[in-house]
Amino acid sequence: MADTYDLIVLGSGPGGYVAAIRGAQLGLKVAIVERERLGGICLNWGCIPTKALLRTSEIYHYMTHAGDYGLKADNIGFDLAKIVDRSRKVSGQLNAGVKGLMKKNKITVVEGFGTITAKGKLSVKQGNGTVDLEAKHILVATGARARDLPFAKADGKRIWTYRHAMVPEVMPTKLLVIGSGAIGVEFASFYNDMGADVTIVEMLPRILPVEDEEVSAFMEKRLTKDGIKIVTGAALEKIDTGADGVKATIKGKDGKSTTEDYSHVIVAIGIVPNTEEIGLEKLGVTTERGHIKVDGFGRTNVEGIYAIGDVTGAPWLAHKASHEGIVCVEKLAGGNPHPFETWNIPGCTYSRPQVASVGLTEAKAKEAGRDIKVGKFPFIGNGKAIALGEADGFIKTVFDAKTGELLGAHMVGAEVTELIQGYVVARQLETTEHELMETVFAHPTLSEMMHESVLGAYGRAIHF
Ligand SMILES: Cc1cc2nc3c(=O)[nH]c(=O)nc-3n(C[C@H](O)[C@H](O)[C@H](O)COP(=O)(O)OP(=O)(O)OC[C@H]3O[C@@H](n4cnc5c(N)ncnc54)[C@H](O)[C@@H]3O)c2cc1C
Repeated sequence: MADTYDLIVLGSGPGGYVAAIRGAQLGLKVAIVERERLGGICLNWGCIPTKALLRTSEIYHYMTHAGDYGLKADNIGFDLAKIVDRSRKVSGQLNAGVKGLMKKNKITVVEGFGTITAKGKLSVKQGNGTVDLEAKHILVATGARARDLPFAKADGKRIWTYRHAMVPEVMPTKLLVIGSGAIGVEFASFYNDMGADVTIVEMLPRILPVEDEEVSAFMEKRLTKDGIKIVTGAALEKIDTGADGVKATIKGKDGKSTTEDYSHVIVAIGIVPNTEEIGLEKLGVTTERGHIKVDGFGRTNVEGIYAIGDVTGAPWLAHKASHEGIVCVEKLAGGNPHPFETWNIPGCTYSRPQVASVGLTEAKAKEAGRDIKVGKFPFIGNGKAIALGEADGFIKTVFDAKTGELLGAHMVGAEVTELIQGYVVARQLETTEHELMETVFAHPTLSEMMHESVLGAYGRAIHF
Protein backbone atom coordinates (compact mmCIF):
# COMPACT_ATOMS: atom_id res chain seq x y z
CA MET A 1 0.00 0.00 0.00
CA ALA A 2 1.28 3.43 -0.96
CA ASP A 3 1.85 6.00 1.77
CA THR A 4 -0.83 8.69 1.45
CA TYR A 5 -0.42 12.43 1.95
CA ASP A 6 -2.38 15.61 1.36
CA LEU A 7 0.55 17.14 -0.48
CA ILE A 8 3.67 15.73 -2.09
CA VAL A 9 6.33 18.23 -3.11
CA LEU A 10 8.74 17.04 -5.80
CA GLY A 11 12.05 18.87 -5.31
CA SER A 12 13.36 20.57 -2.17
CA GLY A 13 14.84 23.87 -3.41
CA PRO A 14 13.70 27.21 -1.98
CA GLY A 15 10.42 26.68 -3.84
CA GLY A 16 9.77 23.14 -2.66
CA TYR A 17 10.93 23.17 0.95
CA VAL A 18 9.22 26.50 1.71
CA ALA A 19 5.98 25.22 0.13
CA ALA A 20 6.24 22.04 2.20
CA ILE A 21 6.65 24.01 5.44
CA ARG A 22 3.69 26.26 4.62
CA GLY A 23 1.61 23.17 3.87
CA ALA A 24 2.52 21.65 7.23
CA GLN A 25 1.74 24.94 8.98
CA LEU A 26 -1.73 24.81 7.40
CA GLY A 27 -2.29 21.32 8.79
CA LEU A 28 -1.58 19.28 5.66
CA LYS A 29 0.18 15.92 5.81
CA VAL A 30 3.21 16.60 3.61
CA ALA A 31 5.99 14.58 1.98
CA ILE A 32 8.93 16.05 0.08
CA VAL A 33 10.93 14.08 -2.49
CA GLU A 34 14.55 14.96 -3.25
CA ARG A 35 17.05 13.15 -5.49
CA GLU A 36 20.10 15.05 -4.29
CA ARG A 37 20.42 17.43 -1.33
CA LEU A 38 17.75 19.25 0.65
CA GLY A 39 17.80 22.95 -0.21
CA GLY A 40 18.13 22.50 -3.97
CA ILE A 41 20.40 24.56 -6.18
CA CYS A 42 20.06 27.70 -4.10
CA LEU A 43 21.52 26.37 -0.86
CA ASN A 44 23.89 23.80 -2.33
CA TRP A 45 25.06 25.15 -5.71
CA GLY A 46 23.66 28.64 -6.18
CA CYS A 47 22.78 31.64 -4.06
CA ILE A 48 24.52 30.68 -0.84
CA PRO A 49 27.87 29.08 -1.79
CA THR A 50 28.50 31.86 -4.33
CA LYS A 51 27.95 34.46 -1.66
CA ALA A 52 30.43 32.64 0.59
CA LEU A 53 33.00 32.78 -2.24
CA LEU A 54 32.24 36.43 -2.95
CA ARG A 55 32.72 37.28 0.73
CA THR A 56 36.20 35.78 0.48
CA SER A 57 37.08 37.77 -2.65
CA GLU A 58 35.71 40.95 -1.07
CA ILE A 59 37.88 40.51 2.02
CA TYR A 60 40.85 39.65 -0.18
CA HIS A 61 40.24 42.84 -2.15
CA TYR A 62 40.24 44.87 1.08
CA MET A 63 43.41 43.12 2.24
CA THR A 64 45.18 43.96 -0.99
CA HIS A 65 43.99 47.57 -0.56
CA ALA A 66 44.74 47.75 3.17
CA GLY A 67 46.95 50.79 2.61
CA ASP A 68 43.87 52.81 1.58
CA TYR A 69 42.65 52.46 5.17
CA GLY A 70 45.99 53.18 6.84
CA LEU A 71 46.66 49.50 7.47
CA LYS A 72 49.63 47.35 6.63
CA ALA A 73 49.20 43.83 5.31
CA ASP A 74 52.21 42.01 3.93
CA ASN A 75 52.54 38.63 2.23
CA ILE A 76 48.86 38.46 1.43
CA GLY A 77 47.87 35.20 -0.17
CA PHE A 78 45.18 32.55 -0.17
CA ASP A 79 44.56 28.82 0.09
CA LEU A 80 42.06 27.89 -2.63
CA ALA A 81 41.13 24.56 -1.04
CA LYS A 82 40.23 26.35 2.21
CA ILE A 83 38.19 28.98 0.36
CA VAL A 84 36.17 26.24 -1.34
CA ASP A 85 35.91 24.27 1.89
CA ARG A 86 34.45 27.28 3.70
CA SER A 87 31.87 27.76 0.94
CA ARG A 88 30.92 24.06 1.05
CA LYS A 89 30.63 24.16 4.85
CA VAL A 90 28.29 27.16 4.65
CA SER A 91 26.12 25.15 2.24
CA GLY A 92 26.36 22.10 4.49
CA GLN A 93 25.19 24.12 7.48
CA LEU A 94 22.12 25.35 5.61
CA ASN A 95 21.38 21.89 4.22
CA ALA A 96 21.37 20.60 7.81
CA GLY A 97 19.13 23.53 8.72
CA VAL A 98 16.55 22.50 6.12
CA LYS A 99 16.71 18.89 7.40
CA GLY A 100 15.95 20.26 10.86
CA LEU A 101 13.04 22.32 9.55
CA MET A 102 11.54 19.26 7.84
CA LYS A 103 11.71 17.35 11.11
CA LYS A 104 10.30 20.23 13.14
CA ASN A 105 7.34 20.53 10.76
CA LYS A 106 6.80 16.74 10.64
CA ILE A 107 7.35 16.62 6.87
CA THR A 108 8.32 13.20 5.53
CA VAL A 109 11.50 13.38 3.47
CA VAL A 110 11.71 10.73 0.75
CA GLU A 111 15.11 10.41 -0.92
CA GLY A 112 15.24 9.44 -4.58
CA PHE A 113 14.11 10.40 -8.07
CA GLY A 114 10.37 11.03 -8.24
CA THR A 115 8.09 10.47 -11.22
CA ILE A 116 4.38 11.19 -11.33
CA THR A 117 2.83 7.97 -12.60
CA ALA A 118 -0.82 9.06 -12.62
CA LYS A 119 -2.98 11.77 -11.11
CA GLY A 120 -2.28 11.71 -7.37
CA LYS A 121 0.39 9.01 -7.66
CA LEU A 122 4.13 9.35 -7.50
CA SER A 123 6.82 6.73 -7.60
CA VAL A 124 10.28 7.34 -6.14
CA LYS A 125 13.29 5.42 -7.46
CA GLN A 126 15.73 4.54 -4.67
CA GLY A 127 18.73 2.46 -5.75
CA ASN A 128 17.22 -0.71 -7.18
CA GLY A 129 13.81 -0.29 -5.62
CA THR A 130 10.90 2.14 -5.72
CA VAL A 131 8.59 3.68 -3.14
CA ASP A 132 5.01 4.54 -4.11
CA LEU A 133 3.31 7.59 -2.71
CA GLU A 134 -0.17 9.04 -3.12
CA ALA A 135 -1.56 12.52 -2.53
CA LYS A 136 -4.47 14.73 -3.45
CA HIS A 137 -2.05 17.44 -4.53
CA ILE A 138 1.36 17.04 -6.22
CA LEU A 139 3.56 20.11 -6.47
CA VAL A 140 6.41 20.04 -8.99
CA ALA A 141 9.39 22.12 -7.83
CA THR A 142 12.15 20.37 -9.74
CA GLY A 143 14.08 23.54 -10.63
CA ALA A 144 16.57 23.83 -13.45
CA ARG A 145 20.15 23.09 -14.46
CA ALA A 146 22.85 24.95 -16.37
CA ARG A 147 22.43 25.31 -20.12
CA ASP A 148 25.37 23.80 -22.03
CA LEU A 149 26.95 25.23 -25.14
CA PRO A 150 25.69 23.05 -28.02
CA PHE A 151 29.20 22.71 -29.49
CA ALA A 152 31.27 22.46 -26.31
CA LYS A 153 29.76 20.57 -23.41
CA ALA A 154 31.10 21.39 -19.96
CA ASP A 155 33.74 18.80 -19.00
CA GLY A 156 34.58 20.10 -15.53
CA LYS A 157 38.22 20.35 -16.52
CA ARG A 158 38.55 23.33 -18.84
CA ILE A 159 34.92 24.13 -19.57
CA TRP A 160 32.91 24.78 -16.42
CA THR A 161 29.28 25.27 -15.48
CA TYR A 162 28.51 27.07 -12.24
CA ARG A 163 28.87 23.77 -10.37
CA HIS A 164 32.50 23.37 -11.45
CA ALA A 165 33.23 27.09 -11.02
CA MET A 166 32.14 26.86 -7.40
CA VAL A 167 34.61 24.14 -6.43
CA PRO A 168 37.77 24.95 -8.38
CA GLU A 169 40.82 22.80 -7.71
CA VAL A 170 43.05 25.33 -9.45
CA MET A 171 42.78 29.07 -9.84
CA PRO A 172 42.22 29.89 -13.52
CA THR A 173 45.02 32.03 -14.92
CA LYS A 174 43.05 33.30 -17.89
CA LEU A 175 39.31 32.91 -17.64
CA LEU A 176 36.61 33.40 -20.26
CA VAL A 177 33.10 33.93 -18.89
CA ILE A 178 30.39 33.43 -21.48
CA GLY A 179 27.24 35.33 -20.56
CA SER A 180 26.86 38.45 -18.45
CA GLY A 181 23.73 37.82 -16.42
CA ALA A 182 23.99 37.83 -12.63
CA ILE A 183 25.73 34.43 -12.46
CA GLY A 184 28.36 35.30 -15.10
CA VAL A 185 29.11 38.68 -13.55
CA GLU A 186 29.35 37.25 -10.01
CA PHE A 187 31.90 34.61 -11.07
CA ALA A 188 33.81 37.18 -13.16
CA SER A 189 33.97 39.45 -10.11
CA PHE A 190 35.12 36.63 -7.80
CA TYR A 191 37.87 35.34 -10.07
CA ASN A 192 39.01 38.84 -11.05
CA ASP A 193 39.35 39.85 -7.39
CA MET A 194 41.28 36.63 -6.72
CA GLY A 195 43.79 37.59 -9.41
CA ALA A 196 42.69 35.78 -12.58
CA ASP A 197 42.79 37.54 -15.93
CA VAL A 198 39.07 37.62 -16.80
CA THR A 199 37.16 38.30 -20.03
CA ILE A 200 33.36 38.45 -20.26
CA VAL A 201 31.70 37.82 -23.61
CA GLU A 202 28.08 38.91 -24.05
CA MET A 203 25.95 38.47 -27.17
CA LEU A 204 23.69 41.43 -26.40
CA PRO A 205 24.89 45.02 -26.68
CA ARG A 206 25.38 45.44 -22.90
CA ILE A 207 26.23 43.45 -19.79
CA LEU A 208 23.56 42.69 -17.17
CA PRO A 209 21.05 43.20 -19.99
CA VAL A 210 17.93 43.08 -17.80
CA GLU A 211 19.13 46.01 -15.70
CA ASP A 212 18.60 49.71 -16.40
CA GLU A 213 20.87 50.86 -19.24
CA GLU A 214 22.71 53.31 -16.99
CA VAL A 215 23.47 50.52 -14.54
CA SER A 216 24.86 48.33 -17.34
CA ALA A 217 26.99 51.21 -18.63
CA PHE A 218 28.29 51.97 -15.13
CA MET A 219 29.15 48.31 -14.50
CA GLU A 220 30.93 47.95 -17.84
CA LYS A 221 33.08 50.99 -17.07
CA ARG A 222 33.76 50.00 -13.49
CA LEU A 223 34.53 46.31 -14.15
CA THR A 224 36.80 47.35 -17.01
CA LYS A 225 38.60 49.74 -14.64
CA ASP A 226 38.96 46.84 -12.19
CA GLY A 227 40.69 44.79 -14.89
CA ILE A 228 37.94 42.70 -16.51
CA LYS A 229 37.91 42.71 -20.31
CA ILE A 230 34.34 43.04 -21.59
CA VAL A 231 33.30 42.15 -25.13
CA THR A 232 29.64 42.88 -25.96
CA GLY A 233 27.66 42.23 -29.12
CA ALA A 234 29.93 39.25 -29.64
CA ALA A 235 29.25 35.58 -30.26
CA LEU A 236 31.33 32.60 -29.28
CA GLU A 237 31.84 30.59 -32.47
CA LYS A 238 34.10 27.75 -31.49
CA ILE A 239 35.98 26.24 -28.58
CA ASP A 240 38.85 23.78 -29.02
CA THR A 241 39.90 22.09 -25.82
CA GLY A 242 43.50 21.05 -25.30
CA ALA A 243 45.46 19.61 -22.39
CA ASP A 244 46.60 23.04 -21.18
CA GLY A 245 43.54 25.13 -21.91
CA VAL A 246 41.09 26.13 -24.60
CA LYS A 247 41.20 28.13 -27.79
CA ALA A 248 38.05 30.24 -28.09
CA THR A 249 36.99 31.94 -31.30
CA ILE A 250 34.79 34.98 -30.80
CA LYS A 251 33.06 36.96 -33.52
CA GLY A 252 33.05 40.62 -32.51
CA LYS A 253 30.45 43.28 -33.32
CA ASP A 254 32.60 44.31 -36.30
CA GLY A 255 32.04 40.82 -37.77
CA LYS A 256 35.68 39.82 -37.36
CA SER A 257 36.59 36.57 -35.63
CA THR A 258 39.54 36.34 -33.26
CA THR A 259 40.94 33.30 -31.53
CA GLU A 260 42.53 33.48 -28.10
CA ASP A 261 43.84 31.01 -25.52
CA TYR A 262 42.25 30.69 -22.09
CA SER A 263 43.00 28.41 -19.18
CA HIS A 264 39.30 27.94 -18.34
CA VAL A 265 35.82 28.85 -19.57
CA ILE A 266 32.69 29.37 -17.47
CA VAL A 267 29.48 28.91 -19.43
CA ALA A 268 26.76 31.08 -17.90
CA ILE A 269 24.25 31.28 -20.73
CA GLY A 270 21.09 30.42 -18.84
CA ILE A 271 19.25 27.40 -17.56
CA VAL A 272 17.20 24.43 -18.72
CA PRO A 273 14.13 23.43 -16.65
CA ASN A 274 14.10 19.94 -15.12
CA THR A 275 10.94 18.60 -16.73
CA GLU A 276 12.17 15.33 -18.22
CA GLU A 277 11.20 11.89 -16.95
CA ILE A 278 8.92 13.16 -14.22
CA GLY A 279 5.72 12.03 -15.94
CA LEU A 280 4.50 15.36 -17.30
CA GLU A 281 3.97 14.21 -20.92
CA LYS A 282 1.93 11.18 -19.92
CA LEU A 283 -0.40 13.33 -17.84
CA GLY A 284 -0.65 15.98 -20.57
CA VAL A 285 0.78 18.82 -18.46
CA THR A 286 1.28 21.83 -20.74
CA THR A 287 4.75 23.30 -21.08
CA GLU A 288 5.82 26.45 -22.87
CA ARG A 289 9.37 26.64 -24.21
CA GLY A 290 10.26 23.86 -21.79
CA HIS A 291 8.76 25.50 -18.71
CA ILE A 292 5.59 24.24 -17.03
CA LYS A 293 2.68 26.59 -17.72
CA VAL A 294 0.85 27.70 -14.56
CA ASP A 295 -1.69 30.28 -13.47
CA GLY A 296 -1.21 32.80 -10.64
CA PHE A 297 -1.72 30.02 -8.07
CA GLY A 298 0.76 27.54 -9.55
CA ARG A 299 -2.02 25.40 -11.05
CA THR A 300 -1.18 23.51 -14.23
CA ASN A 301 -3.80 22.48 -16.79
CA VAL A 302 -4.11 19.11 -14.99
CA GLU A 303 -6.17 19.14 -11.81
CA GLY A 304 -4.15 18.24 -8.72
CA ILE A 305 -0.78 18.99 -10.37
CA TYR A 306 0.94 22.27 -9.51
CA ALA A 307 4.33 23.79 -10.31
CA ILE A 308 6.49 26.58 -8.87
CA GLY A 309 10.00 28.03 -9.09
CA ASP A 310 12.59 27.78 -11.84
CA VAL A 311 10.67 24.99 -13.58
CA THR A 312 7.87 27.50 -14.34
CA GLY A 313 10.00 30.24 -15.86
CA ALA A 314 11.61 33.63 -15.24
CA PRO A 315 12.66 35.34 -13.13
CA TRP A 316 14.87 32.47 -12.02
CA LEU A 317 15.29 33.55 -8.43
CA ALA A 318 15.04 31.79 -5.09
CA HIS A 319 12.68 34.32 -3.52
CA LYS A 320 10.38 34.06 -6.55
CA ALA A 321 10.28 30.27 -6.09
CA SER A 322 9.53 30.56 -2.35
CA HIS A 323 6.80 33.14 -2.82
CA GLU A 324 5.13 31.11 -5.57
CA GLY A 325 5.29 28.08 -3.27
CA ILE A 326 3.49 29.88 -0.47
CA VAL A 327 0.76 31.29 -2.74
CA CYS A 328 0.23 27.88 -4.35
CA VAL A 329 -0.05 25.95 -1.09
CA GLU A 330 -2.29 28.51 0.61
CA LYS A 331 -4.67 28.30 -2.35
CA LEU A 332 -4.75 24.51 -2.57
CA ALA A 333 -5.31 24.35 1.19
CA GLY A 334 -8.47 26.41 0.75
CA GLY A 335 -7.08 29.87 1.54
CA ASN A 336 -7.55 33.05 -0.44
CA PRO A 337 -4.07 34.42 -1.23
CA HIS A 338 -3.34 37.11 -3.80
CA PRO A 339 -2.30 35.48 -7.07
CA PHE A 340 1.41 35.46 -7.77
CA GLU A 341 2.70 38.41 -9.78
CA THR A 342 6.19 39.40 -10.89
CA TRP A 343 5.89 43.21 -10.73
CA ASN A 344 7.61 43.60 -7.37
CA ILE A 345 10.36 40.97 -7.36
CA PRO A 346 13.79 42.45 -6.67
CA GLY A 347 16.82 41.21 -8.58
CA CYS A 348 20.34 41.36 -7.14
CA THR A 349 23.87 40.75 -8.41
CA TYR A 350 26.40 40.27 -5.62
CA SER A 351 29.50 41.26 -7.55
CA ARG A 352 31.85 44.03 -6.47
CA PRO A 353 30.23 46.52 -6.86
CA GLN A 354 26.77 45.14 -6.25
CA VAL A 355 23.68 45.74 -8.40
CA ALA A 356 20.06 45.69 -7.24
CA SER A 357 16.80 46.68 -8.83
CA VAL A 358 13.04 46.38 -8.69
CA GLY A 359 10.28 47.38 -11.07
CA LEU A 360 10.52 49.16 -14.40
CA THR A 361 13.73 50.52 -15.88
CA GLU A 362 13.61 54.06 -17.23
CA ALA A 363 13.41 52.71 -20.80
CA LYS A 364 10.62 50.22 -19.96
CA ALA A 365 8.62 52.92 -18.16
CA LYS A 366 8.85 55.12 -21.26
CA GLU A 367 7.98 52.18 -23.51
CA ALA A 368 4.88 51.64 -21.36
CA GLY A 369 3.86 55.20 -22.21
CA ARG A 370 4.38 56.54 -18.69
CA ASP A 371 5.16 60.19 -18.15
CA ILE A 372 8.07 59.88 -15.71
CA LYS A 373 10.24 61.74 -13.26
CA VAL A 374 13.73 60.33 -12.65
CA GLY A 375 15.96 60.91 -9.63
CA LYS A 376 19.60 59.89 -9.49
CA PHE A 377 21.93 60.25 -6.54
CA PRO A 378 25.64 59.36 -6.63
CA PHE A 379 27.51 57.57 -3.84
CA ILE A 380 30.05 60.42 -3.85
CA GLY A 381 27.37 62.67 -2.32
CA ASN A 382 26.93 60.40 0.73
CA GLY A 383 29.07 60.74 3.86
CA LYS A 384 28.83 57.08 4.89
CA ALA A 385 29.87 55.90 1.41
CA ILE A 386 32.93 58.15 1.53
CA ALA A 387 33.78 57.01 5.08
CA LEU A 388 33.55 53.38 3.94
CA GLY A 389 35.87 54.10 1.02
CA GLU A 390 33.01 53.07 -1.32
CA ALA A 391 32.12 56.33 -3.04
CA ASP A 392 31.40 54.76 -6.43
CA GLY A 393 27.85 54.04 -7.55
CA PHE A 394 24.39 55.58 -7.75
CA ILE A 395 20.75 55.12 -6.90
CA LYS A 396 18.17 55.88 -9.53
CA THR A 397 14.43 56.09 -8.97
CA VAL A 398 11.71 56.27 -11.61
CA PHE A 399 8.33 57.78 -10.68
CA ASP A 400 5.06 58.20 -12.52
CA ALA A 401 4.91 61.99 -12.94
CA LYS A 402 1.10 62.05 -12.63
CA THR A 403 0.52 59.76 -9.66
CA GLY A 404 3.86 59.73 -7.81
CA GLU A 405 3.94 55.90 -8.00
CA LEU A 406 7.44 54.50 -7.61
CA LEU A 407 7.73 52.60 -10.89
CA GLY A 408 11.26 51.32 -10.41
CA ALA A 409 14.51 51.64 -8.49
CA HIS A 410 17.99 50.81 -9.78
CA MET A 411 21.12 50.75 -7.70
CA VAL A 412 24.78 50.04 -8.16
CA GLY A 413 27.42 50.28 -5.44
CA ALA A 414 28.37 48.86 -2.05
CA GLU A 415 25.64 47.00 -0.11
CA VAL A 416 22.82 47.89 -2.50
CA THR A 417 21.54 44.31 -2.34
CA GLU A 418 20.56 45.08 1.26
CA LEU A 419 19.18 48.54 0.47
CA ILE A 420 16.80 47.51 -2.31
CA GLN A 421 14.31 45.99 0.12
CA GLY A 422 13.35 49.50 1.32
CA TYR A 423 11.95 50.28 -2.10
CA VAL A 424 10.35 46.83 -2.44
CA VAL A 425 8.41 47.43 0.79
CA ALA A 426 7.50 50.94 -0.36
CA ARG A 427 6.11 49.58 -3.62
CA GLN A 428 4.24 46.77 -1.87
CA LEU A 429 2.56 49.37 0.35
CA GLU A 430 1.78 51.46 -2.75
CA THR A 431 3.71 54.39 -1.32
CA THR A 432 4.02 57.54 -3.40
CA GLU A 433 6.86 60.05 -3.65
CA HIS A 434 5.26 62.11 -0.88
CA GLU A 435 5.57 59.47 1.88
CA LEU A 436 9.09 58.60 0.77
CA MET A 437 10.11 62.26 0.96
CA GLU A 438 8.50 62.58 4.40
CA THR A 439 10.36 59.52 5.73
CA VAL A 440 13.32 60.16 8.04
CA PHE A 441 16.46 58.18 7.16
CA ALA A 442 19.15 57.59 9.79
CA HIS A 443 22.44 59.44 9.41
CA PRO A 444 25.03 58.44 8.42
CA THR A 445 23.78 55.54 6.34
CA LEU A 446 23.95 54.46 2.73
CA SER A 447 20.15 54.41 2.84
CA GLU A 448 20.12 58.22 2.93
CA MET A 449 20.90 57.98 -0.79
CA MET A 450 17.53 56.28 -1.27
CA HIS A 451 15.91 59.40 0.19
CA GLU A 452 18.09 61.75 -1.85
CA SER A 453 17.29 59.89 -5.07
CA VAL A 454 13.56 60.38 -4.43
CA LEU A 455 14.10 64.05 -3.54
CA GLY A 456 16.20 64.38 -6.69
CA ALA A 457 13.33 63.18 -8.88
CA TYR A 458 11.43 66.26 -7.69
CA GLY A 459 14.34 68.71 -7.85
CA ARG A 460 14.84 68.67 -4.07
CA ALA A 461 18.06 66.67 -3.47
CA ILE A 462 20.05 68.28 -0.67
CA HIS A 463 23.56 66.89 -1.08
CA PHE A 464 23.89 66.95 -4.85
C1 LIG B 1 25.45 30.08 -9.37
C2 LIG B 1 24.06 30.50 -9.03
C3 LIG B 1 23.86 31.59 -8.19
C4 LIG B 1 22.56 31.99 -7.88
N1 LIG B 1 22.40 33.05 -7.04
C5 LIG B 1 21.15 33.45 -6.73
C6 LIG B 1 20.95 34.52 -5.84
O1 LIG B 1 21.89 35.13 -5.35
N2 LIG B 1 19.67 34.87 -5.54
C7 LIG B 1 18.59 34.21 -6.08
O2 LIG B 1 17.46 34.57 -5.78
N3 LIG B 1 18.77 33.18 -6.92
C8 LIG B 1 20.01 32.79 -7.26
N4 LIG B 1 20.18 31.72 -8.08
C9 LIG B 1 18.98 31.05 -8.63
C10 LIG B 1 18.37 30.11 -7.59
O3 LIG B 1 19.33 29.17 -7.18
C11 LIG B 1 17.16 29.44 -8.18
O4 LIG B 1 16.28 30.40 -8.69
C12 LIG B 1 16.43 28.60 -7.14
O5 LIG B 1 17.27 27.62 -6.61
C13 LIG B 1 15.20 27.95 -7.74
O6 LIG B 1 14.55 27.22 -6.75
P1 LIG B 1 13.63 25.98 -7.09
O7 LIG B 1 13.05 25.54 -5.80
O8 LIG B 1 12.71 26.33 -8.19
O9 LIG B 1 14.58 24.86 -7.69
P2 LIG B 1 16.04 24.27 -7.27
O10 LIG B 1 16.70 25.09 -6.25
O11 LIG B 1 16.69 24.04 -8.56
O12 LIG B 1 15.64 22.90 -6.59
C14 LIG B 1 15.07 21.85 -7.32
C15 LIG B 1 15.35 20.56 -6.58
O13 LIG B 1 14.58 19.53 -7.17
C16 LIG B 1 15.35 18.35 -7.19
N5 LIG B 1 14.80 17.48 -8.24
C17 LIG B 1 14.70 17.72 -9.57
N6 LIG B 1 14.08 16.71 -10.19
C18 LIG B 1 13.77 15.79 -9.25
C19 LIG B 1 13.12 14.54 -9.27
N7 LIG B 1 12.60 14.04 -10.38
N8 LIG B 1 13.02 13.86 -8.10
C20 LIG B 1 13.51 14.38 -6.93
N9 LIG B 1 14.12 15.56 -6.86
C21 LIG B 1 14.24 16.27 -8.00
C22 LIG B 1 16.76 18.83 -7.50
O14 LIG B 1 17.73 17.89 -7.10
C23 LIG B 1 16.81 20.12 -6.67
O15 LIG B 1 17.31 19.87 -5.38
C24 LIG B 1 21.46 31.29 -8.40
C25 LIG B 1 21.66 30.18 -9.23
C26 LIG B 1 22.93 29.79 -9.53
C27 LIG B 1 23.12 28.60 -10.40
